[in-house]
Amino acid sequence: MIDSPKLPQKNWPELRPGWVWLCGAGPGDPGLLTLHALNALRQADVVVYDALVGLEILEWASDAELIYAGKRGGKPSAKQRDISLHLIELAQKGKRVLRLKGGDPFVFGRGGEEAQTLVQHGIPIRIIPGISAGIGGLAYAGIPVTHRDVNQSVTFVTGHDQSGTAPGSLDWEGIARGSQVIVIYMGMKHISHITKSLIAAGRCRSEPVAFVTSATLDNQKVVESTLGNAVADAKNAGIGPPAIVCIGRSVLMRQVLDWQSMETGLLPRSLDPLGRGRPAESA
Ligand code: SAH
Repeated sequence: MIDSPKLPQKNWPELRPGWVWLCGAGPGDPGLLTLHALNALRQADVVVYDALVGLEILEWASDAELIYAGKRGGKPSAKQRDISLHLIELAQKGKRVLRLKGGDPFVFGRGGEEAQTLVQHGIPIRIIPGISAGIGGLAYAGIPVTHRDVNQSVTFVTGHDQSGTAPGSLDWEGIARGSQVIVIYMGMKHISHITKSLIAAGRCRSEPVAFVTSATLDNQKVVESTLGNAVADAKNAGIGPPAIVCIGRSVLMRQVLDWQSMETGLLPRSLDPLGRGRPAESA
């Protein structure tokens, strides 16, 4: 166990009895927690946490009761309703409730729904954003989610909807045409369907793809592949959920920005993976 870090002196908001704070815990590394999240952990009577919240982080909840509300991808939404009702019940009992979610609570985390239900029941809330896996997790893999030479937009996609099926409402043709870089959450279950759809819609089979599992944690694993080989490469490497999938040329930047490998003494594989042929700083 790591000692709970000290909060700097500041007039931090008070988590009052009967309130629920919906808070992001970041992708896993406790160092990516925000100070507001730490402030919340200090004060909560009860922490209702999800599957992807790191155990180390929970150890920083002073004396709080810890309630696991993890859901596995693809379970029906009835469970979601139970969680929301449980939060309401705890708040109505006068507890200081911290609802802790992996990453950012409003990014594919159903935080919006939970918050709405709380407000509909008259429960006062506060939202504490977190570092989302699709941004921070990729950064730990050395992949910048935007890069001036690659993309001026990025599309975040969920690989399956509430029922666990590939989201029928997703227009893969539109995404293939309009998205320079695609970042997929919960993409592993339907990765075959997703890559086939993108190729069928005109994306190149050789387009770079990266899978990042357990991003920011000690067991983080990154597999680089291409759209055409993604399914086989992920399978061979034993990549499973939770994983972020990044599709686009920004994956190439890992050749120069894989800082975790460089930390161990490895040299960058390339200093100019995008083939600019000039210093990165030049306009
Ligand atoms: N609210 C979260 C996302 C929740 S959806 C966020 O903002 O990050 C759950 C999905 O997030 C997982 O299936 C996976 O795709 C992704 N994810 C979350 N944490 C991750 C991690 N540490 N490594 C890789 N993927 C992660």
